[in-house]
Amino acid sequence: MSVLTDIADFLFPRFCVMCGERIASQEKGCVCSVCLMNLPRTGYHLLEHSPLEKLCWGVVPVERAVSFFYYSTSEVKDGIRSLKYFGKPDVALHLARVYADELRLESSFFDGVTAIIPVPLHWMRSMGRGYNQSDCIARGISEVTGIPVRKDIVGRKRNNVSQTKVRRTERRTNVAGVFKLKKRSLKDCGLESVEMPHFLIVDDVATTGSTLISCAQELMKLGDIRVSLLTLAAAGGRTPVPAAENDAPDTSVFGIPLIE
Ligand SMILES: [Zn+2]
Repeated sequence: MSVLTDIADFLFPRFCVMCGERIASQEKGCVCSVCLMNLPRTGYHLLEHSPLEKLCWGVVPVERAVSFFYYSTSEVKDGIRSLKYFGKPDVALHLARVYADELRLESSFFDGVTAIIPVPLHWMRSMGRGYNQSDCIARGISEVTGIPVRKDIVGRKRNNVSQTKVRRTERRTNVAGVFKLKKRSLKDCGLESVEMPHFLIVDDVATTGSTLISCAQELMKLGDIRVSLLTLAAAGGRTPVPAAENDAPDTSVFGIPLIE
């Protein structure tokens, strides 16, 4: 730790966005190590079929689907609010780096992924907020894994009502058809030589999975591709993992306690 860093830390102390405690100068980022350690992790990457993946069954084929932590405690909720609404894109970036590191250490989750696709935000909302939190998450993962981010493949054609303002049962219709391919084909994406390109769609929070599903359905129009999903947060606290993997696929995306 250089003297300059110590001086900068003295003059501009950093505080954890989750608990508000001061962050030690040797710690990186905007979340303290205690909060990072105590994040209620989902462990989805260790399951054969995660609850998030099961939300997609019968709706859109998904290879793998993971979330970093449950959106359960007040600290986590504060962190997410700051990431989304209070102009702190570095929170998303930092948490994405930490999660990508953990996934790489504990699983083969990123193996074979061709490109990372941040869920697009309508330009009006991006302008209002100054950034798209999904872009920050995509960038954090890319920095750790070296997988390229592709923002040129899918866009948002209309500005739907925010999912947080819509009832759970209406979320799927709210986002149906809001995404639009910007490319006509895999060749147009420069991926014609890649066999079954594998896209990783990333977003901040998953509730009903509706936004991710809608984005995946649009990407599927490109043809022979594979899709996986990653979010930082999943709803509901320590939701019991559905037991038997051969349970009848739940094609209703409602009723499972995940948030968006
Ligand atoms: Zn903290």
